[in-house]
Amino acid sequence: MTRRQFLYGGAALIGASAFVGSMFQRRTAGSAIAAEGSFPVTKTDAEWRAALSDAQYNVLRQEGTERAFTSPLDTEKRTGMFHCAGCDNAVYSSEKKYDSGTGWPSFWEAEANAIGTKVDNTLFMTRTECHCARCGGHLGHIFDDGPQPTGKRHCINGVAMNFKPRDAVAG
Ligand SMILES: [Zn+2]
Repeated sequence: MTRRQFLYGGAALIGASAFVGSMFQRRTAGSAIAAEGSFPVTKTDAEWRAALSDAQYNVLRQEGTERAFTSPLDTEKRTGMFHCAGCDNAVYSSEKKYDSGTGWPSFWEAEANAIGTKVDNTLFMTRTECHCARCGGHLGHIFDDGPQPTGKRHCINGVAMNFKPRDAVAG
């Protein structure tokens, strides 16, 4: 091995470990959402804690999942709009809601530009995570076993949303 090759090899090794190190740091730096960058609505962690209930904070800011069949919004059948509990963004319409039988409010499509997605590799699975496009709050996951016309199932935590019946929205 020449000295030059040795230097290259060493540099590559340092580069690789720095890369792995940064991945690890990103993965463990508190909220995964914080690492995603900025959203139109931003608050400090303390502000979110103060603004949200414990259950809302766990789902929206820590990517928790509520227990199935616990949200009254799962069986909500009135016409209206589902809003992000973190920032009031209108994220899902009752017109695109269906009963998936999973115990979580399910929709086959979100409102236009209302949500963002990212790959979620937790729980030994690769899933598509979805969050509010305005505040970054975690809403749920999107699966490919939904009904037509999209074939998608947006599996959303009810606690992450507030429902406003159409009458209330219009009034
Ligand atoms: Zn939001």
